[in-house]
Amino acid sequence: MTNPRFSAVQAIAQHTFEHYSRPKAAISDYFAELVFNDETLEKWLSPPHAKQMLRCIHEGEKMDADLADAVATGMRNWAMSHGATHFTHWFHPLRGTTAEKHDTFFELKGNTPLETFRGSALVQQEPDASSFPSGGIRSTFEARGYTAWDPTSPAFIYETALAKTLCIPTVFVAYTGQALDHKAPLLKAIEAIDKAATRVCQLFDRQVNSVKPSLGIEQEYFLVDRNLYLARPDLVMCGRTVFGHAPARGQQLSDHYFGSIPRRVTNFMVEFETEAHRLGIPVRTRHNEVAPGQFEVAPQFEEANLAIDHNMLLMDIMERLAEKHHFKVLFHEKPFKGINGSGKHNNWSLITDQGKNLLSPSSKPKENLQFLTFLVCTIQAVHRHADLLRASIASASNDLRLGAHEAPPAIVSVFLGRELTRFLSELEKNDQLKVQKGDNVYLKLGISKLPEILLDNTDRNRTSPFAFTGNKFEFRAVGSLGICSDPMTTLNAAVAEVLNDFAEAAEKQLELGLKREEVVLKLLRSMLKSSKSILFEGDNYAEAWKKEAEKRGLPNTPTTPEALDALLSKKAKQLFKNLGIFSAEELEARTLILLEEYILKIQIEARIGGDLAQNHIIPTAIKYQHLLVQHQAGLQQLGLADQGHLDYIKEMSLHIHQVQLMVQHMTEARKSANAIEDTREKAKAYCNEVRPFIDKIRYHVDKLELMIDDADWPLPKYRELLFLR
Ligand code: ADP
Ligand code: MG
Repeated sequence: MTNPRFSAVQAIAQHTFEHYSRPKAAISDYFAELVFNDETLEKWLSPPHAKQMLRCIHEGEKMDADLADAVATGMRNWAMSHGATHFTHWFHPLRGTTAEKHDTFFELKGNTPLETFRGSALVQQEPDASSFPSGGIRSTFEARGYTAWDPTSPAFIYETALAKTLCIPTVFVAYTGQALDHKAPLLKAIEAIDKAATRVCQLFDRQVNSVKPSLGIEQEYFLVDRNLYLARPDLVMCGRTVFGHAPARGQQLSDHYFGSIPRRVTNFMVEFETEAHRLGIPVRTRHNEVAPGQFEVAPQFEEANLAIDHNMLLMDIMERLAEKHHFKVLFHEKPFKGINGSGKHNNWSLITDQGKNLLSPSSKPKENLQFLTFLVCTIQAVHRHADLLRASIASASNDLRLGAHEAPPAIVSVFLGRELTRFLSELEKNDQLKVQKGDNVYLKLGISKLPEILLDNTDRNRTSPFAFTGNKFEFRAVGSLGICSDPMTTLNAAVAEVLNDFAEAAEKQLELGLKREEVVLKLLRSMLKSSKSILFEGDNYAEAWKKEAEKRGLPNTPTTPEALDALLSKKAKQLFKNLGIFSAEELEARTLILLEEYILKIQIEARIGGDLAQNHIIPTAIKYQHLLVQHQAGLQQLGLADQGHLDYIKEMSLHIHQVQLMVQHMTEARKSANAIEDTREKAKAYCNEVRPFIDKIRYHVDKLELMIDDADWPLPKYRELLFLR
């Protein structure tokens, strides 16, 4: 059999890839054509039903059975006009990405075939939930869970080559009420921050009736040729390469970032963007990323719940279309050692129903006090719950990225930029400054200058895990693979809690008749004092920051099992319980699921690493070594053998032996880890006792890669995976 590496390389050289030509029409002509949005709804429902439905979506009005039936019929007619035959409730279970179970509209009524879709089927379904993880909340013999329609995220038609399906975004909950998915808690957190932020806004502006978190998700990913990918069992099984020597050229030339996009990649991008646009995903930006083979796609921001659904859908579209272009898209946070990892930057802000961005400074000085309030409350929230934010992005794969090559560290800190930092520190110290009657406090404190301060403040710090970027915060530590619901549930909950505290304190003092400006400034000062240790402007990658952060008492948990402990703290339970997001029981269940997932991920990595080492690498190495031995014997006969030849063989023997030994040790470590009953302890054992062996094996395998005849090496090399497309 020919080495799959070489046939893959040959196929790439022959450019046998897909060409895609996008529709001639402008994007705006087909944008959202597959979405049952407000406009579509008005077309396919009677005017009174349409009106009623719009109130349900936008004002949270309850839906009755009549309306549900009418909407279901309208939706079915619309979907069938697009050729859809099936429908599914589309949800985010606690493991994996999205789940769906397709049912057809078709049924036999007596002998009459017809298409139906009832309101009851639109609103609620009961998937057999026993094989979705519940963390013990719902034992398998009592597999009762149901999905319920989330009308704030519109239904859409998902087309694949074979099927067209009406997808209805839903939450997934147990009959006892606990959330079994990512969306239900997110919706609760969004509600919590809506209430809290509206309450704070009312201190400044009585017009505000609601506040919604906005979210723009920048998605990074790698593209690898599909044939090369298939020849790498580690990529197939765990999404990352467990072996692979660094290529002669990595990313040191920095020539990939914003460089011209290769033609084959552009083809792929244009096609998935077109699909995304048809599905109402407002994709806007495409570019090369820093590492070779790494790219980014970013949509325009939307309301957080929708942005997250769209991100999941986008990942799905990308995966599906990559196959058509003979690519594999890698969403893993760290597919290649020594090369940049991928993140999913979460650009987050709060926007009122009046359209005002609360994290944007204003040209009206009075509004800036409100801006400062939201800014400082966010800083305090990150300070108070840095550990929970870290836990919200914890996974076996993101652990490999955080704190590694060009990635934010596991220590959460806030970056504001030099000018804003200076401004806030003066504001904090200025408590001696007396505001006299007739004084303009905005001028006196420089608050009116804020927009200029921020305009000039362009020193962005790419090393920061949580950075203020002029009119929004960017949570950069979020990993590229996961779903953004957990970090967004946590962030919105944390900020909601602080906003509630702020509102309560402010309202009390205002009742005493104190002046609003004075009350707010006093509160902001004390909040800044207590939370400024979270502010960091320096290089987050530097070793010195770890020491400094420790001195400041900031949490630093580089691995998932220790990071997840935060979810079980009294502080976490209080936060989520008070806001009605999670009960203590739910938090425990979730932590358990995350720990189990961690264990499984490491288990798979260890197995595939062991398998590759044992069954691919060692046999190849031994064959080559045998050749060397024969060669050595021949040379000896001729009297030409020298110590160099012998040393080479010895070195190979050493690496082969070490690989064998380490694989054995790893297997033993896995066995003892498996024997541990307690899930948390087991996860720690996998983290501290099993995972290190993967890297130890790697060291020797990567050495062997350099020593063995290139023609024999079975696994596509980094230079091929990263540069050939
Ligand atoms: P970059 O960070 O790469 O410079 P941009 O600043 O253009 O890119 O924005 C990145 C993402 O942030 C985009 O998805 C954009 O829509 C989003 N964004 C911009 N303003 C806001 C906002 N107020 N709230 C949430 N996301 C926002
Ligand atoms: Mg950005």
